[in-house]
Amino acid sequence: MLFQDIIGQQTVKERLIQTVLDQRVSHAQLITGPAGSGKLPLALAYATYINCKNRTATDACGVCPSCIKFKKFVHPDLHFVYPTIKNNDKEISRDYLPEWRSLLTETNGYFDLQDWYQHIDVENKQGTIYAKEAEEIIKTLNRKSYESEYKIMIIWMIEKLQYQAAPKLLKLFEEPPEKTLFLLITESPEEILSTIKSRTQMVKTDRIDEASMRAAILQNWGQKDETLVERILNLSEGNWLKVSEHLQKDDNDQRFFEMFKSWMSYCYKGQVAEAAALSEEFSKMGREQQKAFFGYCLQMMQWGLQNLAFGKEKIKTIGAELDFISKCTTFFTVDSIPVFTEMFEEAEYHIERNANPNILFMDISLKSMTLMYKTRKK
Ligand SMILES: [Zn+2]
Repeated sequence: MLFQDIIGQQTVKERLIQTVLDQRVSHAQLITGPAGSGKLPLALAYATYINCKNRTATDACGVCPSCIKFKKFVHPDLHFVYPTIKNNDKEISRDYLPEWRSLLTETNGYFDLQDWYQHIDVENKQGTIYAKEAEEIIKTLNRKSYESEYKIMIIWMIEKLQYQAAPKLLKLFEEPPEKTLFLLITESPEEILSTIKSRTQMVKTDRIDEASMRAAILQNWGQKDETLVERILNLSEGNWLKVSEHLQKDDNDQRFFEMFKSWMSYCYKGQVAEAAALSEEFSKMGREQQKAFFGYCLQMMQWGLQNLAFGKEKIKTIGAELDFISKCTTFFTVDSIPVFTEMFEEAEYHIERNANPNILFMDISLKSMTLMYKTRKK
């Protein structure tokens, strides 16, 4: 991770860089700020910069052996601690390192606790930084550094530190092993022991500014639809995690819209073979996606009703979707929409309970054909 990969946070970046140039890197720093501001990416860029062999006044080189290892999160002097769950033979951060690295690689460090728990399949549990972890940290830091000047220990979400672990860590922050740097990250500084806060230097990040968000959306997603970008900027409020969430949802919706449109058109024209081919495609999507698709169909039905009742100005969508739903009044009528709605709701329910997606999809297709035929004849 380089500073140039960080979205926004220009002032913080410059300040961190200056500490290195002035050789006054504080040995324990607490990086705070709201969700999605990029605290972990900043810590990673800082760590990379500190150990880069050819850094410039603005960034690490990105190509020296140290930078390459930092980029892959495998540098022997880079250590991570994060909340974990006791699970069979797993307990401390080291036990979860492969999962941790893979999430870092996938997201460039832009993820939150929920994403992490989901990634390690423990969605309904709360992670902790256990007391055993503190012993592990001490062991790790007492070893000599392997290759670089600084050993760097990134502790992510330090607010999850078990109370019993605190005294050992405090001692470390007070008398750190030589050339050791602690980068602590938190979203809830108010939950952290004041004794930890008083021993660390605070690095405060803020919500990402709008111009940087806009530029990053264009660069990362190639999204140029201005109305959509503005809508997403508004919804995201400087939180990069929300941008991905909204854009992903939008990507999905786009795909679902195309599918829904074709499907309904086949049903309207009674094209059984085409519907069967689509059914085949549908059955290959994952179960969650299948459920989400029926969720999307339900959303369309709701818009259809709103259109009939209040006119298209009241529908909260734009572009082709709006166009489609406001023009489909020949088969989405006051009488047929409730029937469609019930079918989609039932489908969602049956998918959840492992129904055969192909049979289910075809069943609804045939029912829709009959329903549309009747609606047309009226
Ligand atoms: Zn380098």
